[in-house]
Amino acid sequence: MGIFSKLTGFGGRDMAVDLGTANTLVYVRGRGIVLSEPSVVAVDTQTGDVHAVGVEAKRMLGRTPGSIRAIRPLKDGVIADFDVTEEMLRHFIQRVHQNRFAHPRVVVCVPSGVTGVEKRAVEEACLSAGARQAYLIEEPMAAAIGAGLPVADPTGSMILDVGGGTSEVAVISLGGIVVSESIRIGGDEMDEAVVAHCKHEHKLAIGQQTAEEVKLEIGSAINLPEEITTEIRGRDLVSGLPNTILLTSTEIRAALEEPVSQIVAAVKDTLDRTPPELAGDVMDRGITLAGGGALLQGMDERMRQECQMPCQLTESPLTCVAVGSGRSLEEFEVIHRMNRNTTRRRTLGAQV
Ligand code: ADP
Ligand code: MG
Repeated sequence: MGIFSKLTGFGGRDMAVDLGTANTLVYVRGRGIVLSEPSVVAVDTQTGDVHAVGVEAKRMLGRTPGSIRAIRPLKDGVIADFDVTEEMLRHFIQRVHQNRFAHPRVVVCVPSGVTGVEKRAVEEACLSAGARQAYLIEEPMAAAIGAGLPVADPTGSMILDVGGGTSEVAVISLGGIVVSESIRIGGDEMDEAVVAHCKHEHKLAIGQQTAEEVKLEIGSAINLPEEITTEIRGRDLVSGLPNTILLTSTEIRAALEEPVSQIVAAVKDTLDRTPPELAGDVMDRGITLAGGGALLQGMDERMRQECQMPCQLTESPLTCVAVGSGRSLEEFEVIHRMNRNTTRRRTLGAQV
């Protein structure tokens, strides 16, 4: 009976969605992460029809003709385009939700900058995509659960999640967020810093995607043991012709300094506002880094140096929010069972 109920039982197809500013991941209970795609939608500007979603749409960014627009609906950590977000969410849920007759429960993790109205829109998008119920979970909490931190214990755990459009820091204890900070600085601002650097220092126009590639290849937050270079192509702003230039990791690190130091400042500020007992716990246990932006070379070492405490990158920074949201599904089950039991007890009590 145990196995049977595990496979087909209540909640078997429940899913968790990490609705990130850069990437959306879907976790299906019992199966793990089944989808991971860029949060990008290509829309026909005339008809409003959706042309492509995810990987395919991301390839179109900066390459669309006048009739198509590639949109990142959550770009700055807020829902910039309501309808497109809803459309995207529905598309991803339906893609993994093959059985039209089963109505799963869906947990969605949204950036904390999202407003109440936007949260309701997200819930509604899930319901209209076929969900039976939709719950929201706060991003730092999901990240902390996914990173395996003891969130329920009476001890302070600090998590930093550097995403595309936002960075979120929080100290969690006894299952709740005690202090937190969310800034609209993340991997996107790093890309923009690379674009600006190429424009001002090399008179070369490059797109966001090229900038991201440069960041992944030679970007860093601390001096590298051996500085490296990369070649990029763009349009020369003086001649107007395509041109190739060489970039060094030293100059890119300088260009990234502004966004990186803002993320460091957000962590320090959160530490500053942490109650002393919890700050002591964080001192001992350190800061856990999650999110794609935390993968910037030397980000963990930079935090270690600046905050004077241990800092560790979580095992899987890009998936930990989805995994954490997925794990919270299991807890809903427990909560639900507890509620059922108390209801039954109450009914029994009434009969006596
Ligand atoms: P979100 O949760 O906001 O969708 P993610 O956690 O998926 O964001 O992280 C996406 C960001 O991480 C992007 O800006 C991407 O460029 C950046 N990123 C991914 N891998 C790396 C890496 N190795 N080095 C630096 N930045 C990275
Ligand atoms: Mg995220």
